[in-house]
Amino acid sequence: ETDKKNMKEHIQRRTSDRINVGNVPIGNNAPISVQTMTNTETTDISSTVSQIIKLKNVGADIVRISVPTLEAAEAFKKIKKQVDIPLIADVHFNYKIAIKVLNDGADCLRINPGNIGNKNRIKQVIDCAKYNNIPIRIGINSGSLEKDILEKYKFPTSEALLESAMRHINYLDNFNFDKFKVSIKSSDISIAVKSYKMLAEKISQPLHVGITESGGFRNGTVKSSIGIGLLLLDGIGDTIRVSLAENPIEEVKVGFDILRALHIRLKGINFIACPTCSRQEFDVIKVVKILEKRLEDINTPMNVSIIGCIVNGLGEALTSTIGITGYRKNSVLYEDGIRQLKRINNDEIIDELEHKIRKKSRELILS
Ligand code: SF4
Repeated sequence: ETDKKNMKEHIQRRTSDRINVGNVPIGNNAPISVQTMTNTETTDISSTVSQIIKLKNVGADIVRISVPTLEAAEAFKKIKKQVDIPLIADVHFNYKIAIKVLNDGADCLRINPGNIGNKNRIKQVIDCAKYNNIPIRIGINSGSLEKDILEKYKFPTSEALLESAMRHINYLDNFNFDKFKVSIKSSDISIAVKSYKMLAEKISQPLHVGITESGGFRNGTVKSSIGIGLLLLDGIGDTIRVSLAENPIEEVKVGFDILRALHIRLKGINFIACPTCSRQEFDVIKVVKILEKRLEDINTPMNVSIIGCIVNGLGEALTSTIGITGYRKNSVLYEDGIRQLKRINNDEIIDELEHKIRKKSRELILS
């Protein structure tokens, strides 16, 4: 067991159906997947492909692409051929675009069926999804509630969001289509959490969880962590998207940070570091910052504790894969909780720790 802290209380996940987005299973106890969305012009094929490859390299399981026009749909088809990660086509209003992407290799279609138009158009899209065996994601958003629902509730409350979600779900139900997942997002954490909890009681399909339009990097990370974290701890959520006004690479990283912090899905290094004070024997903040950057490529789950002095150093080191405790000129190294004879010179701590962590990662992969 590489993560001793993983032996914590087990989260009882909500029982849900299973759908597959390409080769990524969602729901029914599948690992919680992390998804994001490109923010390039979809018609700029090379930039979009390049961004998707970067997102895949930082661990994204699924990538969503906005397809606002038929021209973008044509680009989507070409993009799909150049990448090997499941792609969700994000379509609004236009049934022709929806049908085109379904026939051109989309692994999932994000669309709200009530917005497509008459029943005949809805049926055509659903028939096409059935024919290609492609799931749909219904995405309810506090910023785009139907006018009549907004008038009824005066404000995008949880009840309003739920009514909208059930309206779109009913369209799929009426055509006997059950391969779908739903998101019910608000930019307000309390409203979002309540909405998801109510929806989770009403349907058996998997849920895509997120806090919409959560803001820039810091604010958005805080809001997303609270909202998504509360739901995940309650067993709700089968795939997550952290929405940030930032490079989507950060969305993926924060997504995995949330899953790692909750010991749900371990990937990469969980750095444990003290906030530092005048007792620190080496520059903890600098060491952590540099190592986080240098070790971004490590996917092996491990806890690495970097603590400035003996006050908390030993306690953290005992439950870490690698731990360093600051001590005068030479700090004390622990591996799997065992104190190592050879100390590390505080001037060489960054290089030495990088070396040790990489070596440990290789050993864990082989074991
Ligand atoms: Fe200060 Fe030591 Fe606590 Fe770090 S572990 S904050 S250096 S007392």
